[in-house]
Amino acid sequence: MATVTSYGAAKTVTGSCHLLKIGPIKILVDCGMFQGDGGGKKNYLPFEFDPSDIDFLIITHAHLDHIGRVPKLIKEGFEGKIIATRPTHDIAKIMLLDSAKILKEEYKTLRKKARRRGDEANVYEPLYTEDHVKEVFSKRWHILEYFQTYKLPKKIKVTLGNAGHIMGSAFAMIDYAEGKTSKRVVFSGDIGSPHRLIIDGLDTSEEGDTLFIESTYGDRVHKPLKESIAEFKQSVIETLQRDGNVLIPSFALERTQEVLWLLHEMYEDNELPQCRVFLDSPLAIKATKLYTKYPIHLSEEVEYKTSDEESPFSFPALETTPTRDQSLMINKVKQRAIIIAGSGMCNGGRIMHHLKHRLWNPNNTVVFVGFQVNGTLGRRIVDGDNFVKIYGEDIIVKAQVKTINGFSAHGDQNDLMEWMRSFKNMKKIYLIHGEAEKMELFANAIKTSLKHDVSIVEHGIKIEL
Ligand SMILES: [Zn+2]
Repeated sequence: MATVTSYGAAKTVTGSCHLLKIGPIKILVDCGMFQGDGGGKKNYLPFEFDPSDIDFLIITHAHLDHIGRVPKLIKEGFEGKIIATRPTHDIAKIMLLDSAKILKEEYKTLRKKARRRGDEANVYEPLYTEDHVKEVFSKRWHILEYFQTYKLPKKIKVTLGNAGHIMGSAFAMIDYAEGKTSKRVVFSGDIGSPHRLIIDGLDTSEEGDTLFIESTYGDRVHKPLKESIAEFKQSVIETLQRDGNVLIPSFALERTQEVLWLLHEMYEDNELPQCRVFLDSPLAIKATKLYTKYPIHLSEEVEYKTSDEESPFSFPALETTPTRDQSLMINKVKQRAIIIAGSGMCNGGRIMHHLKHRLWNPNNTVVFVGFQVNGTLGRRIVDGDNFVKIYGEDIIVKAQVKTINGFSAHGDQNDLMEWMRSFKNMKKIYLIHGEAEKMELFANAIKTSLKHDVSIVEHGIKIEL
């Protein structure tokens, strides 16, 4: 008998963690970090299962909400094998090292504040350190290419397909025997669309009895990519033409490389007004290097532009600013700067000081190119707050705010429906990874147009497959 219990990303979009038990074999699909409102503390709670009991961990992709608790899992006894694609393995390493650095900084600040209050005993140690992250990468990994199969004990087989979400992202197809019949359960991970800007698009699975599918944008339809590209270019051009600055809070993975690719195109086509472009994120600088390491994962057009001498993500107007001092120097540039910095949801990182310096000025534009979770500063700006607090200071929001949603790394309702339609003989669909009210809408849409049996997964409730 097989069962699935979700310990994260059940009626929420973060903390992905799903435990699949097939007979005596225990497979964890993702072990992500909780983020956003009240998320931080949840990461420190003990796992609701014994990490030393888990035999395999499948990592669908290297976003922190899918990998962020892997070092904790190992710290607390996991000794099994980790299954992922090569880019996921490499990207996870830079993401987790960066995360450990942030946790250390947060811990130092909290401890300093607590000491002043005389309350030092109540400060948590960091969730994990760089040493714990190194431990993750000294462990046994099994690297899979897309559609290559890995045999586990008890006739269980794991295959990964391209999820078209970020480089190396995968959906996991797990085959197992129940009596004489063979069954397949599929975990979507986060899925993109068949046509992405810089990476190869989403593959289909075709077979599958049970599907656990993400629902981030299950309630809506994105603007077409072409329209979004035009909107992006227009915002950039208009802002620079009025001598303003463009702030792009950007996720280090995928979105930054997409933005760089578009600016590169604009530069080559003489569409980019005279400006200086700053890539102001050490993590995004590292990630961009990895993106050029796997041209095979890039879309044909981008792959074509990749050679030893040329990177598709670089052009003469671009300056990278890895150090803190270089980042602060950008504040001296008064006009015609495009600043790409993390974090993508403005809940930390260098984008904070850029927002503090430039949000009050109506000539500037903040261009949001990614999803903003409830409870983040990014979400408050998008929702139209007139004032925001940054580093304890009230800042008036007078800059233009532009949200471009067609770049999403998550497929919209049409993409998700189309993907589900490609499965033959699907018996049951479970919704994960979404905000509760959006999931209801998505569930109804699936019932109406696909006539499938569909349920919304509850945290910690065991489901029999
Ligand atoms: Zn993701």
